[in-house]
Amino acid sequence: MENVWQEVLDKVRPQVRPVEFRNWLKPVQAVEWHNGTVTLLVKDGEFQTWFIEHYEPLVVRALEAVTQKPLEVEYKFKNPELFDRAITASAGQHPRFESDYTFDGFVVGSSNHMAYAAAKAVANRPGRAYNPLFIYGGTGLGKTHLLYAIGHAAQQRDPRLRVVYITLDTYLNDFYSSVRLKRMDQFRVKYRDSCDLLLVDDVHFLSGRGERTQFEFFHAFNALHSAHKQIVLTSDRFPREIPDIEERLLSRFEWGLIADISAPEMDTRMAILQHKAVQVGLDLPGDVADLIAREVSDNVRELESCLNRLQLESITRKVPITIKLARESLKSYFKQQARKINIENIMRVVSQRFSVGVDDLISKSRKKNFTTPRHVSMYLARKFTLLSLPDIGKKFGGRDHTSVISGIRKIERNLKVDTTLQQDIEELESRLRR
Ligand code: ADP
Ligand code: MG
Repeated sequence: MENVWQEVLDKVRPQVRPVEFRNWLKPVQAVEWHNGTVTLLVKDGEFQTWFIEHYEPLVVRALEAVTQKPLEVEYKFKNPELFDRAITASAGQHPRFESDYTFDGFVVGSSNHMAYAAAKAVANRPGRAYNPLFIYGGTGLGKTHLLYAIGHAAQQRDPRLRVVYITLDTYLNDFYSSVRLKRMDQFRVKYRDSCDLLLVDDVHFLSGRGERTQFEFFHAFNALHSAHKQIVLTSDRFPREIPDIEERLLSRFEWGLIADISAPEMDTRMAILQHKAVQVGLDLPGDVADLIAREVSDNVRELESCLNRLQLESITRKVPITIKLARESLKSYFKQQARKINIENIMRVVSQRFSVGVDDLISKSRKKNFTTPRHVSMYLARKFTLLSLPDIGKKFGGRDHTSVISGIRKIERNLKVDTTLQQDIEELESRLRR
């Protein structure tokens, strides 16, 4: 079994980037083969979701090629109890800290040049340029990227510099468990004494936290600041717009420089696409880049996902990257489509087609005449909306993302053999597109 899995990995390896292989494939183990089902051991649910979206098709194809049998994949979690990942995550470590998120890899345009310049200044003269540097902007616009770039560059300049990168979430979990385990001394050493450059991602999550928590953060901030240690914070909004946060913290955030990142302009989007394409070794024709840049405008992460998707489609279907392929495989990312088709109208057309109520789709009932339309809705939601699997689960009465996955799978499986279902779905899709 181990040999088979090794063979599978060897097949997949050339199809992904080395960094992806290291982070997402190598850590996975195959632990069971049973009746055409392979059980993969993965870290946790978050890992699984990402894996399913990005690597499962490749892995299944490789498995089938190696074993010459159709197979299904199931998942087990290595550390179910460690969903609370923060407690184990040690500050300053991240798989991408090394190489991916650097200044060189950051495309500068009018939407982000100020944040970029400030980040560079801080990396060159930590504690001397602006302190703190507060970077804010919407999701997927490059805040975390810049934060890592600062850590990376500062560390390269001075290898002795002790850099701590932490998301506010992780910080809080660490704080809570330190309180619980009476290890506050260690906690303070970690974030105050043995840290020269503190990078805190997503500080807007301080909003609404208890007094003691905010107090601790405030004092850590002061200790570092008065020792001229550099602090960099990111947030999804301007300090004054973060609700429920203590005034004295807000005023600290404003001591240094506040830099914003906004959505990139068309030419920057083109440049980012071209840059990422080179990075992943993708031959991206200009007209395809132009199409994507026009359709996907307010989130860089989505631009990247489009490229990944295109690459995967072109590898698996063995066709070159063309406008046609892009239009087919990136439908759900494109604004026109994505805007029109939302989960509500999916539920509506499905409930009409199958003569059930929208309530029945959401309900807990497991009657067959409800489960099929429910799974069909999930399948369509995945195909046509930008919702993540957990979000889809929420829309269906607070279901877990694993039940969404298994629902979608069922449909995908049946679609191969069930012509009535094929017709149903074709009809539904054409109604949704209208
Ligand atoms: P945020 O933290 O603001 O939500 P991230 O820093 O995680 O966003 O960025 C999302 C993705 O977009 C990352 O993969 C990042 O490399 C990429 N990205 C964002 N802005 C740029 C840019 N200007 N140049 C290159 N890549 C970018
Ligand atoms: Mg981020």
